[in-house]
Amino acid sequence: MPDLTPNIGAHVSIEKSSLQQVLDVLKTMGYSLVGPTLGEGAIVYDDIDGIDDLPRGWTDRQDAATYQLQKRGDDSYFGYVVGPQSWKKYLYPPSYRLGTVERKNGSYSSTPNDEEAPRYALIGVRACELKAITIQDNVFLGGDYQAPCYKSRRQSAFVLAVNCTEPGGTCFCTSMDAGPQVGPGFDLALTELDDVFVVEIGSDIARHVMSEIPWQPSGAFELQAARRAIASAETRMGRQLDTSDLPDLLYNNLDHPRWDDVAQRCLSCTNCTLVCPTCFCSDVLEISDLTGQKVDRVRVWDSCFSLEFSHVHGGNIRPATRSRYRQWLTHKFASWIDQFGSSGCVGCGRCITWCPVGIDVTEEVAAIRMEGPQQ
Ligand code: SF4
Ligand code: SF4
Repeated sequence: MPDLTPNIGAHVSIEKSSLQQVLDVLKTMGYSLVGPTLGEGAIVYDDIDGIDDLPRGWTDRQDAATYQLQKRGDDSYFGYVVGPQSWKKYLYPPSYRLGTVERKNGSYSSTPNDEEAPRYALIGVRACELKAITIQDNVFLGGDYQAPCYKSRRQSAFVLAVNCTEPGGTCFCTSMDAGPQVGPGFDLALTELDDVFVVEIGSDIARHVMSEIPWQPSGAFELQAARRAIASAETRMGRQLDTSDLPDLLYNNLDHPRWDDVAQRCLSCTNCTLVCPTCFCSDVLEISDLTGQKVDRVRVWDSCFSLEFSHVHGGNIRPATRSRYRQWLTHKFASWIDQFGSSGCVGCGRCITWCPVGIDVTEEVAAIRMEGPQQ
């Protein structure tokens, strides 16, 4: 074995079975491993102990309102796309206690939640998902006010990313400049070949991890095979989205009849926002115990599709499904750019796959584009 510690930016190759040693090193460093597993009829993120928990030999077929697990004809560890869940469930939990207020001896005391954040190693983060994490970084950490819960989880997370070689039927990450090759922000990035993983080193922590396991510098043949696999994925995206003039297109069509058309189909079920890796709307609940002496203040995920979300003093500002769908789509592809400097969509396709009536954002935007600005 050559030099024991590869440099940042180096590509090295490891036997596929050595991925277990990578995970073991992460465990000894105190990380909790979370990654893809088979569960609930889909590939979902859960606690994992090792490579035997990964959905080896499985893939997923996806289309609008369609998701089906299928066996592959090989033993790929990462031969699937993305499931219904995203990593935001770990970095921005669906339910999080912000603090507690207690009444004792006639006075009140308030204590913020100061529990130590878990240290997650996120195993199998796809390119679109890493881009989604960087978008949420900007939302939660980029302004004057930062979310401490997100910050502590994010700063202590280890990201083991995987380049996509198997795009799904609803993917359009290439249109959103979010894949299939992972961008900046990973610790390790794998490309799965038949016999080996080609591993790119992205951080000093990753250098330390790799110093503990056997590796070889990747050869020209392996590097070329990895590049080809990613380039092939780029040509096989299930969907495309023309993003030229997108904010203007939407802003100039706020009264387009397509909003009525989609409102006839949309159930306002909130699925698209809950599966979306960048959506971040929340509500704050106050939940008292049975004695009424203690109240937990809890932040929970909410959705711009829920009627109560738009209820402000004096009434509801988006009482119709038409206005709620328009708000969601226009925020994702237009006002998000004004607000945060980037699109709010990474083209992961989840909102298309998991919409129970198969509403497809790429189709809705294309319909507005085809039918042109309304007078
Ligand atoms: S809007 Fe849809 S395709 Fe875009 S990031 Fe969200 S779930 Fe993925
Ligand atoms: S677009 Fe689909 S997933 Fe989203 S709220 Fe409407 S019906 Fe539900």
